[in-house]
Order: sequence, then structure tokens, then C-alpha cells
Amino acid sequence: MRSICVFAGSGTGVHPEYMQAASELGTTIAGMGYRLVYGGSRLGLMGSAAEAALSSGGKVTGIMPGGLLHGERVHKELSEMISVDSMHERKAMMQQMGDAFIALPGGLGTLEELFEVLCWSQIGIHNKPLGLYNIRGYYEPLLHMLRHGIQEGFVAESCMSRLFVSTDPAELVQAVSHELPVTSDLRWLSSAYRKDVPE
Ligand code: AMP
Repeated sequence: MRSICVFAGSGTGVHPEYMQAASELGTTIAGMGYRLVYGGSRLGLMGSAAEAALSSGGKVTGIMPGGLLHGERVHKELSEMISVDSMHERKAMMQQMGDAFIALPGGLGTLEELFEVLCWSQIGIHNKPLGLYNIRGYYEPLLHMLRHGIQEGFVAESCMSRLFVSTDPAELVQAVSHELPVTSDLRWLSSAYRKDVPE
């Protein structure tokens, strides 16, 4: 079964629309026959997406560092909960298990996950598609920053074509079901570093 890894806020956001849209994405992922992989919490947008996928009969895998596993934040009814030793290991496993990624609005945790996937895609470590669920235009400032980075010569232009932005969950899931072309930036492909990262 193919999987979509979801990065999403552990907060709810201040507008009800965020939780509602997260839930719609969870329903859509399950409805389109994908497993949802995520951080394993029942809080915020993360929990809302997971809950909706489960309620629609979908499979959901949570990945949590062992130390957090006993807290009340953990979602107890997932199809599968994987315990890892560290936040780094968690992120690596989420990248490994997801055939594609969708980032919802979120805070520093979500931004970190999103940028790692985007950066690694750009340098050819993986060619898994990445979608941005732009609920309430949350990511407009970030998209503006990326365009600014391109204009100023720090961000590769290809970055924008590696990121699919939408407010429609079905369109997003559809868009990330196809692998991206392998990057033409081959600097990292033969390096020893590549051996250390998950396929
Ligand atoms: P944030 O956007 O800062 O709320 O962080 C959310 C992202 O970081 C999620 O995609 C998770 O993978 C991870 N994360 C942050 N807090 C938690 C938590 N309490 N439980 C599980 N994962 C979390």
C-alpha cells in the first residue's frame, strides 16, 4: 500500500477552518487508498488528519520517539505505532516510509520537516513529490520568501517546480501520486553522504 507522509501543526490554529481542512485531507488520503504516515500525536492538525483517515477506514502509522510514547498526546488508536530513539530517527523514518509528502499549516516542527524534504529533493537524495496544503493562504509568505530567494540568487528556480501548492485536498493527493523527475543537480548523487540517508 502506498503511503503519504503528512507534516502538520501540533496546534489547531486560530481559525476553525484549519482543523476542518486537515480532517478533509485525512478523509481524502484514506478515500484514495493511501496509508497516512505522520508524527503520531492526537493534537492539533496532526490529530485531526489522522482521526479523519481512521474514521474513513484508512490505515494510519504514527512514528514517535520512545520518550514521548507514554504521554497523553499520543494517539492510542492508530493502525500502527512505531517507536524510534530520537527525533532525527523519526524524521528519517517518516521520509523513508512516505512515498510522497504533504505539508499542512504548522509551526517550527512542520517547517523543519518541509524544508528538509524540499532541500533533499532538490539535491537528488530522493525524488518523492511534495505538496503544500495552502489552507487560508497560510503559506503565501513562505512562497514569497522562496521567490525572493530565487530572485536574489540563493534558491534554485527548480525548487518551485518541486512543490505542488493547492487548497484542494483531492487535487493535492492526485498531484503527489506521481514521482518527480530526478533532479539535474547531481552534486550529491555519488557522494559518500548519500549512503547515510534512507532510500
Ligand atoms: P509544529 O509544526 O511545531 O507544531 O510541529 C509539528 C510537526 O513536528 C509534526 O509534523 C510532527 O512530525 C512533529 N511534532 C511536533 N510536536 C509533536 C508532538 N507533540 N507529537 C508528535 N509529533 C510532533
